[in-house]
Amino acid sequence: MKKIVIKFGGSNLRTKEDVARIIKVISGCQTAVVIVISALYGVTDALLKTIRQAPGDREVIRRIKRSLMAAHLRIATLYIDKPEHKKTVVKKIKDRVNTLEKYLLGIHYLGEAPDFVRDLVLSYGERLSSLLLTSILNSRGLTCEEVLPEQLGLVTNGEYGNAEVDFAAAEKNLKEYLSGPKRYIVPGFYGISPNCRVTLLGRGGSDYSAAAIGRCIGAASVDLWKDVDGFMSADPGIVKNPVSINSLTYREAAELSYFGAQILHPRTFEPLMDKKIPLRLFNIKNFSGKGEPLTIINNKLVIKEDVVKSVTFSDDFGILKLTGPGVGIKPGIMAKVTTRLHEGNINIKSIITAQTSINILLAREDLPKSYRLVKEMGLPTVEQVSDLDHISLIAVVGEGMLDRPGIAARVFGAVSRHKVNILIISAGASSVATYFIIERKDREKTIRSIHEEFFG
Ligand code: ASP
Ligand code: MG
Repeated sequence: MKKIVIKFGGSNLRTKEDVARIIKVISGCQTAVVIVISALYGVTDALLKTIRQAPGDREVIRRIKRSLMAAHLRIATLYIDKPEHKKTVVKKIKDRVNTLEKYLLGIHYLGEAPDFVRDLVLSYGERLSSLLLTSILNSRGLTCEEVLPEQLGLVTNGEYGNAEVDFAAAEKNLKEYLSGPKRYIVPGFYGISPNCRVTLLGRGGSDYSAAAIGRCIGAASVDLWKDVDGFMSADPGIVKNPVSINSLTYREAAELSYFGAQILHPRTFEPLMDKKIPLRLFNIKNFSGKGEPLTIINNKLVIKEDVVKSVTFSDDFGILKLTGPGVGIKPGIMAKVTTRLHEGNINIKSIITAQTSINILLAREDLPKSYRLVKEMGLPTVEQVSDLDHISLIAVVGEGMLDRPGIAARVFGAVSRHKVNILIISAGASSVATYFIIERKDREKTIRSIHEEFFG
């Protein structure tokens, strides 16, 4: 029988009641599952802060040690009844925290944190939560085995801080290791480089861990437990009555994540798409014991009558604008500029051009550097280089965007009725997403007007 991969995030590990919910979910599952777990809520951020302060301040190491012990032991004491179990767990947690302390002291004495130490230290949030959950489940008769990514051979490309899994290397290892009829628990967020160093998979990377493991073992599904109602038609903080989207294609979910929906690590779909493994999103906060997914992401094409499934936004974009007569037609400008940006390690998110201007969409944090690089080039045909900050990108997503007439007219009609000035539009680049740029101050008005148009 195919296994299921189940992942619990940091937002599911916030209060002591959350652990009770996790236990309930797991006891309702088949026995052969692979559980992926994030760090307790806030732990990764606390470790990051400690890494920053440790070179100049030894006291912070003592403080984090104390708070990690307290946080994990509090939960262990609540959920583990037998005194002999409790004693073993306290010792195991202490041992792990002591190892972490050694690495932190290393940073203190070195006066800096080399990348490989930084990744190693940050992996301890997940190492501690997985140890905690394994101990709790075992003491409650839900037998399980903790396996670390280094034992599994979850091999990455070796890039510190933001690695990708090397599936050619990892697949065989995981298939072999996780083939038994057991319940396994794996700490998320990291893999292991070809030379056996811990490499993180990026912030929020446990979603990607779960998807990567799901791919390697050919899982029946990858189930992510969150504390929100899956993908929504719009941000509940902005519109009054957003609806959960029951079904999305991988492409729709990928565009939504690319254009701002915060719910998943943007890499999560990559491992699953070509293997057609469904990704299912659950909300642990309203779990009644039955466990119906709120959103299922797979390659089943469901085209809505009026196409649009969700409207999302991102404030993380900036525009570098090159203007001058004929910049669009002069050969070579674009190649020169994009090459220069690439050499400067800057990722271009999109380009929209016309005869008199080239608009390059970038991450907002890359804008100042990009501006400097392009300005320095002193291109003769470019009269002006400008950088646009304080913008929001709005994306409207749904399969069928290019095939159904009138959708774009409805989107822009709704926006213009609310007197929003659109700075740039891109339609047709993807058959599932239309996006445009507005001034940041118009963001909420714009989202509400589009949501109202399509969802009433
Ligand atoms: N604990 C890590 C983070 O906060 C990974 C995760 O939560 O998925 O980024
Ligand atoms: Mg998290």
